[in-house]
Formats: sequence, C-alpha cells, structure tokens
Amino acid sequence: MTLKRFLAGLLAIIVLATGTAWLFRDHIVEAVFANFVRNNLGVDLRDTLPDGLHVLFCGTGSPMPDPTRTSTCNGVIAGTRVFAVDIGAGGVRNLILGQFPVGEIERVYVTHLHSDHIEGLGEAMIQAWTIGRRTSPLPVSGPEGVQATTEGFNMAFGPDRDYRLANPSASIDANGYGLNATTIALNGESSVVLDEGDLKITAFRVSHQPAEPAFGYRFDYKDRSVVFSGDTAYDPNLVRVSAGADLLVHEALSARMMAVLNRVAMESGEPDMGDVAGDVLSYHTTPEDAARAAREAGVRELMLNHLIPPVPSRLLHGLFLGDASRRFDGRITLAEDGMVVSLPAGSDDVVHLE
Ligand SMILES: [Zn+2]
Ligand SMILES: [Zn+2]
Repeated sequence: MTLKRFLAGLLAIIVLATGTAWLFRDHIVEAVFANFVRNNLGVDLRDTLPDGLHVLFCGTGSPMPDPTRTSTCNGVIAGTRVFAVDIGAGGVRNLILGQFPVGEIERVYVTHLHSDHIEGLGEAMIQAWTIGRRTSPLPVSGPEGVQATTEGFNMAFGPDRDYRLANPSASIDANGYGLNATTIALNGESSVVLDEGDLKITAFRVSHQPAEPAFGYRFDYKDRSVVFSGDTAYDPNLVRVSAGADLLVHEALSARMMAVLNRVAMESGEPDMGDVAGDVLSYHTTPEDAARAAREAGVRELMLNHLIPPVPSRLLHGLFLGDASRRFDGRITLAEDGMVVSLPAGSDDVVHLE
C-alpha cells in the first residue's frame, strides 16, 4: 500500500467516525450525563473519609465579589455527625456539590450576624427540607439577635413553603420547614455549647465591633481539633481557646492589597470604595497577625478564609500572605471553595483533599 492510499484510507475512517459521532451526538452526551448522575447520586462525603474530624470549605470569600469564592461557609464532619459554621450565599450549593449530607446537618453555628455569614440560611433550610427530607426545622445557634434573623427567614420563604406543599405530588413533611434558633449567651469569654461522647463544641468571644457579640467556635472530636475564628481583629481570647489545636481556620485581610485598592479607588474618583477599604482594616486580621495567633496558640496548621480583598489567582498568594510565613512555622494555606481538610482520629495528619 502506498503512503498516499494509506492516508486516504485513514482520512475516510476519521470522516466516517466523526460523522457517526455527530449523528449520535445527543445519545453520546446523554449517556455521559446519565453516567455522571449515576456516579454522584446518593454519594455521601462521609463514606470517603476515615473516622475523624473533617472540614469542607463551602465558602472562603468575603462580601467583596470574587469569581472563585462565595461567602463564608464551613461544613464540619465529626465522626458521623455533621454541622455547619456560617452559611453565606452559595454555601449550600457548594455543600451539595461536595457530597455533604445537607439533610443531616444537626445544627448551624453562626459566628455573627453580618450578612455574608447568614445570607444562605434560607437556601439551607429549603434544601435541607426538600432534598434532605428534614422532618423538623433546622436548628441554628448564634449570638443575640439570631432569633429575629431566623424568624425573618421563616417569614420570607413562607410563599415558597406553601407552593411546595400545594404540589399534589409533594412527599415532604410540612414540619421540616424553617429554622429554629437558640441564642448562645457566653459564661465569660467562652462556653461549651455541646459536650456529648467524643465531641465537644466551644463558643468563644472574638473582637469584631460593632458586630457584637461575635463568636468563634472550636470543635474537639476524639484527639483532633479545629478552630474557626469567625470575623475578628487579632484577639488574645482566640489564641487562648485555640491552644494546641490541629487546625486554625482564620479570616484574613491583606492590609497591603487593601492599601493598593484604596489608593487606586481614590485616584479613580471612587472615594466611597476607598472609605470601605480603610474602614474594614480595624475589625479584621492581617495574614501576618493570623500567623502570629497560630504560633502563639501552638496550632499545627493555619488555613486562611474570608479573604479580603478577593484573591482570584494563585499568582497573588505571595502578595496576600506578605510576611505571614516568617511568623509561623507550620503550613499556611489560602482556603478555596470545595477544599476538604481531613484530620483522621488517632493520628497527627492534616490531609488536604481537593
Ligand atoms: Zn463580619
Ligand atoms: Zn464577614
């Protein structure tokens, strides 16, 4: 066979294969889609993890729009029990995408009542009720004011509840709708809010004036522990409560990047934006001070979330972190939506799963 005939034959096969694929393209795409659904339906993140304490980062951004990060949201798995710490906008979608068992969330712990930490509660209660088949309202604990917030959500989503219950094929339990709030009143600077078997959850005061009180939360499960700072300026009380934890999840604001934002906003004739940039510096923590808190607390590892300003590219990580790595010997990571960090019981491992 000459090379010319071989190439002509090859071309004919390619044309025929392409033509066939084109003719049956809808069937092929449908088969791929069906396979995707089959592989994801009913999958539970817990089944893929060892016994231990695990965090699904379901929102690592701040109120400033970021194409890669939604508002604050953390899913926590402690053995077989599941919780959330804050649910900002988009958080529930990330939980579901991450195979987190939303219907089994025992309680949402809210750090404070700034909108970016609670704006997803309405979506959470609807998803937990409909997809998650809840038969009682979703419990929410938080600082003073949480009761009014949850009542507002319950009222705002009332028409949605009625539409769903009016659907003749609805098989949802009317009792599963809504949020049910518990106000946490600290006894001093910190209080244990749950202590059952291998699991202990501690709420503690942080500094986020004028949002007051504002809390952080520490989870201890068997021999593993994780602390969520919530929104706070550098706070000695956080350092005290975080002592010896495996993982500190701390908010972070890059003063250097915000100064650039401020300067450019002023130069561009956007003084309002510049004012916001200057204002937030007083009640958030720089990456350097978060690293200092991590060192002083003696934690094993630091993850930064609630990133201000947005950090949409890894090329910006160095600029955002500044001198943080000189203040803390452990690993420092900028959390990203969808990340899972696993702390297997009976080990010292901190495993990053993406
Ligand atoms: Zn806040
Ligand atoms: Zn916030």
